[in-house]
Amino acid sequence: MKTKIIKIDKDNIERKKIEEITRAFSDGKLVVIPTETVYGLGANGLDEEACKNIFKAKGRPADNPLILHIAENSQLDELVSEIPELAKKCIDEFWPGPITMIFKRSDKIPNVVTAGLDTVAIRMPSHEIARAILKDCKLPIAAPSANLSGRPSPTAFKHVKEDLDGKVDIIVDGGVTNVGIESTVIDMTSNPPMILRPGGITYEDLKKIIPDVAVDNTTIDASDHAIPKSPGQKYRHYAPIADAYCFTGNLDGVVKEVNKRLKENSDKKVAVLATTETKDDYNGAYIVIDLGSRENMQEIAHNLFDALRKCDEEEVDLIYAEGFDFRGIGAGIMNRLLKACGGKLVLGL
Ligand code: AMP
Ligand code: MG
Repeated sequence: MKTKIIKIDKDNIERKKIEEITRAFSDGKLVVIPTETVYGLGANGLDEEACKNIFKAKGRPADNPLILHIAENSQLDELVSEIPELAKKCIDEFWPGPITMIFKRSDKIPNVVTAGLDTVAIRMPSHEIARAILKDCKLPIAAPSANLSGRPSPTAFKHVKEDLDGKVDIIVDGGVTNVGIESTVIDMTSNPPMILRPGGITYEDLKKIIPDVAVDNTTIDASDHAIPKSPGQKYRHYAPIADAYCFTGNLDGVVKEVNKRLKENSDKKVAVLATTETKDDYNGAYIVIDLGSRENMQEIAHNLFDALRKCDEEEVDLIYAEGFDFRGIGAGIMNRLLKACGGKLVLGL
């Protein structure tokens, strides 16, 4: 298939480009769109065949359900059978924005979207281009991250092109995404609601609206015995090709431990995912990637997936990643890092 690239400037969105994308969605086509979290591989969420094609293009396992994206609260009515009071509060507070809520589904949604579950995941993105498209097409758009299954999620147009050129009808080039990690997923059908995946809207943000909000503890445990409540979380997502380790503890200890291992593995190509504060401390690494300053965790989230892709490009043998506190967006960063490392956490003392 020949993929058409449509470049859209978020500050000057051209009407005719949006209309072309709306037509493509109505015709059952696959269109990759930028959102504030990561790029999404979209199709009309009420069109069963189109949604099946999402799974084919990504190589996504059929038991991993899709998130439906909407532009207006009123669209919820036909998609869910119930909106709990706490969900209404979260919608008022956080939508449009990087949080996905799980509801009891209506029977309008094809089974392929929910992977046969009786619940459905819904989000209202805030990205200007995504919003313009969703408002115009008035359809719920099913859109998982626009990467091949198992690869880090795409945060830039070039990542999407690497993975999906020739596999989808249209890719919208909207530059780089903002948040850089995928949306927070919260199950509003459980009591109290439970965070299934940490992301842009943090535990601390949610606690202000839901004081007893629960957290699925598999979000910080990527070992084999941990069975997540969210089907997609059980897969070794965000996986770079190289064997990866995450180092935690106080920063001096981390730097010392990483340097010790760099010496022990001097015959290997090792990438170190470091921070601005430490990037000059690693001698003997094949490549040191500066994720950004520890003073600005948003920047680190923004750069993380690009860094993991760079490790693949450089064909390194090993990745040593500095760890972060589980506070704020740090919880989302650590969840992705631990998945990339297959749970291999090393304490630097
Ligand atoms: P992605 O769009 O690729 O970021 O993945 C969507 C995430 O949402 C996956 O981790 C799914 O398992 C999760 N998800 C989607 N629908 C549901 C649902 N009904 N219940 C629990 N998790 C869901
Ligand atoms: Mg994904």
